[in-house]
Amino acid sequence: MFKDLFHNNDEWAYFDNAATSPTATSVINSEYKYYEKMRANIHRSPHELGQQATVAYENARETVAEFAGFSSPECIFTRGTTESINLLAYSFCSDWGKDDGIYVPSCEHHSNMLPWIELQQRQGVKIYWLEYDNNGLIDLDNLQDVLKSTQSISKRKLLTLAHVGNVSGIEQPLEKIAYFAKTFDCYLHVDAAQSIKYHTYPKADFVSFGAHKMYGPTGIGALCVDQKLLEKMKPWQVGGGTVDRVTIGNAVYSEGVAKFEAGTPNIAGALGFAESCNFLTDIGREKAKEYSKEIIQELNIIVKGLNCEVVNENSDCICSFISEFDAFDVASLLGSQNVAVRGGNLCAEPYVKRISKKGVVRASSGLINDEKDVKMFKVALQKSLDTLTKNSNKE
Ligand code: PMP
Repeated sequence: MFKDLFHNNDEWAYFDNAATSPTATSVINSEYKYYEKMRANIHRSPHELGQQATVAYENARETVAEFAGFSSPECIFTRGTTESINLLAYSFCSDWGKDDGIYVPSCEHHSNMLPWIELQQRQGVKIYWLEYDNNGLIDLDNLQDVLKSTQSISKRKLLTLAHVGNVSGIEQPLEKIAYFAKTFDCYLHVDAAQSIKYHTYPKADFVSFGAHKMYGPTGIGALCVDQKLLEKMKPWQVGGGTVDRVTIGNAVYSEGVAKFEAGTPNIAGALGFAESCNFLTDIGREKAKEYSKEIIQELNIIVKGLNCEVVNENSDCICSFISEFDAFDVASLLGSQNVAVRGGNLCAEPYVKRISKKGVVRASSGLINDEKDVKMFKVALQKSLDTLTKNSNKE
């Protein structure tokens, strides 16, 4: 139905959209247009080309910010979700110490764990690991208890979590979570890597996401920050573009988002990012979500029919499953039949280790998929499991 919107490789059933999604043709065209017609640096060059590129880049910022529920002066371009979270940790929390607390569910993607573990090791910040069930759903009673019991211990608090998890595709009840965060004076950071396609976040203090899982280019993302908090944040990487004045031995940094974007940024990527937002808006984010969900439901039925256990049956975008065989072997055999999925710890080792000794196979859907892909998946999974069964009988 949507396949024609991509430079599509018909030989593959691409079910690895949660790792990265194919790039929409309109996104590629928008980057091409920059390289062909507007190739100049931004915010520095007085000539016409430089001005056109600057206007296009700043318009792109506005589009991306609005897509996330923020305004343009609140949107910092980064290399992706991981860099956004590192920026948050290094900048906003640069002077946090042992009296401050970070609240993190222990089922998170490594990108939303390691920057906080680093902060703990470097600055002594206390991490409170939060409970979740096997579907990856945060335990709200535990969250409330931990926030309550540490209310007077932690001076500054940040709750950081993925809205949609990358292992089970579970969607956390963000309204309630935001309410608890507010009640207990806790800043809220949402890792929206998997969810930004379908959601906006006007109530969060910070939101991290990238373009490459929403049909945009790789190497570009954003950290959106409530403006009042952005003003308090210090630059973390400095250089050209971040300063108003420099003397020998001193620098006065720019106000606003400029102080976080050192050097020449990924200009073409920003334009492609904005186009990926327009692409999804034009299709309709709700419609795209429903389409993805229908495919996942078909995959869930196939997987269960082959005696595998689905981790969470209610996801819009992910069908993760556990079989009696090593997940990497299953994923490799599917790959050898041109069905692209992922298998293993999925960059969320603590969670995956808790639910399976053999890792998890993850099939993730998107607009590129159609019924032909679903059929290919069915045939290939059956064959992969048969092969592994025969091999294990031989041993
Ligand atoms: N958080 C989650 C929940 C993810 O799924 C991913 C990507 N797999 C990341 C963070 C990292 O995103 P990026 O590749 O944009 O840095």
